Amino acid sequence: MLKKMINNAKIDIEIHPNDPLLIKSGMSTVGGADMVFVRTYRFDGKDEPFIPGSSLKGMIRSYAEKICRSLRDMPVPVCLPYLEPKKEKEGEKRQASCGLYFENYKKKVKPISSPDIYSLSCPACRLFGSQSFIGRFATSDAYLTDEFRQNGRPVFEIRDGVAIDRLTGGTAGGAKYNMEVLTRGEFKTTLEIRNFERWQLGLIGLVLRDMEQGLVRVGFGKSRGLGSFHAKITNFEITYYNRNINSLKGLSTLASKEDSKAYDFFPETVDDASQLPVPRSEGLRYIYNLTDSWKESLDPAVKDLVKYIEAVKWPKNIEEYIAGRS
Ligand SMILES: [Zn+2]
Repeated sequence: MLKKMINNAKIDIEIHPNDPLLIKSGMSTVGGADMVFVRTYRFDGKDEPFIPGSSLKGMIRSYAEKICRSLRDMPVPVCLPYLEPKKEKEGEKRQASCGLYFENYKKKVKPISSPDIYSLSCPACRLFGSQSFIGRFATSDAYLTDEFRQNGRPVFEIRDGVAIDRLTGGTAGGAKYNMEVLTRGEFKTTLEIRNFERWQLGLIGLVLRDMEQGLVRVGFGKSRGLGSFHAKITNFEITYYNRNINSLKGLSTLASKEDSKAYDFFPETVDDASQLPVPRSEGLRYIYNLTDSWKESLDPAVKDLVKYIEAVKWPKNIEEYIAGRS
């Protein structure tokens, strides 16, 4: 990716469960429940529940993919990240994983430059990455908020579950398991997008809106009444390096013409009518606090997203590249 810093968005959020949550730990416990909530050890030697950044990133990515799919029917505008090319089943046509396409091509034909990887990737892989590159979006692990730690303790319950037969939808011979769910706990984490195109901020903004409204679920048992939460956006900042500007801009405007062409950044479609607030400066950084205005401020970014998904050349561009026709 670009070897310079241009812009950055940093969003602090809190996660407040509405229903019990189960973020499964890979470890089984001796004499404990079949499925337990993931925990971390803190410096004081006590353990406490947390939500791994990878779980949050996966949740945000799959919700963002849904938004993209709802903006264009055919061809579907995003890949299925683990679907091998040529192994598509009915209903998966032309949705093979960008990353797996690239990995096969690199093994069998030749290396692919990073601008090509980026420009050939579907919108989801451009933002969240794939097997071939790390992506622009990062989430740190979510830990209990300080306020919650001061006023309360996490509460767990053991629930019985009945295994569901995948074919019949009935119970699988009455097979039972139990699981440890979290019924009290509040978490905080930080999301970050480095060197963003403006539509990418629009996409994250739409996911955040729905997280605020409690429409996104996390963890295990989403169809069994687990995983509902609402997010609170506690801080939303955008940074531009060495640029004091007054409207929301992304890479297509701020990167060099050569980079913009090589990476195929999507041009911004409308002017930012609301304008950015006055920034504070720290060294070369100009930092804009959008905590109270992010929904309005991201309006032009959402408009870019809608146009971008309508226009995106994926999957035709990647299919032609892999077939050696471009
Ligand atoms: Zn992809």
